[in-house]
Amino acid sequence: MAPPRILPPLDDVNRPFWTGGHEGRLVLERCEACARWQHPPAGRCTACGGEVTHAAASGRGTVFTATVNEHAFHPEVPPPYVIAIVELDEQAGLRVVANVVDADPASVAIGDPVQAGFEIDGEHAVPVFRPVVP
Ligand code: ZN
Repeated sequence: MAPPRILPPLDDVNRPFWTGGHEGRLVLERCEACARWQHPPAGRCTACGGEVTHAAASGRGTVFTATVNEHAFHPEVPPPYVIAIVELDEQAGLRVVANVVDADPASVAIGDPVQAGFEIDGEHAVPVFRPVVP
């Protein structure tokens, strides 16, 4: 059973990201003008100001950096767990902060290939990443 999470309230800007996983899709903003992906969602392109649409990324990426949390910050969220910044394959610098799950926390390393999955929590479908086993 997944630990409870403290999740952001949904709004018109962040809803596609937090709910796309119900259909198995990692939904990010993509600029219609310059074709740049961006995350976190901002409602407009932060590079050129263009209109954004929502598109499903592949969910493939690599661990850009990660840390193992050993301290119990919340009594219902037992450590250890991995907090990672994952760089997605779509674009250099396109990064998502998420837990890496289904892995020995001590084994998660920079550069590891990972694949997005989702943990359903009510209306939210929380993106998480799992190691890709070659
Ligand atoms: Zn743009």
